Amino acid sequence: MKSGRCPKCAATPVVHLKWVPDRGDGEIEHEMLLFRKATVLQALMGKEEKYGLLQLYICQSCGFTEWYTADPRRLPVHEMEDAELVWADDAAEEREAYETLRDIHKR
Ligand SMILES: [Zn+2]
Repeated sequence: MKSGRCPKCAATPVVHLKWVPDRGDGEIEHEMLLFRKATVLQALMGKEEKYGLLQLYICQSCGFTEWYTADPRRLPVHEMEDAELVWADDAAEEREAYETLRDIHKR
């Protein structure tokens, strides 16, 4: 889909929506985000840290739509209440390398 061709019907071009509006209280429009983090001071100043901006690719021919998360490596997974890493069964080496790096950063 990111290549500009629909994987379902092979049409091109597709629409890339760089942020998806989320309308909450009072119809105020915000971008759809997976995680926001702020100290009390940051919250008061409206300067929260934002992670996981959701984006869409939409086929104008058949309507097939794919979600993507911008900058996924920045997601603070261990701070997100309902998130966990799911490793493939054959990924023991990658997992060990990841956990070693994580432990180094904790020191
Ligand atoms: Zn299509």
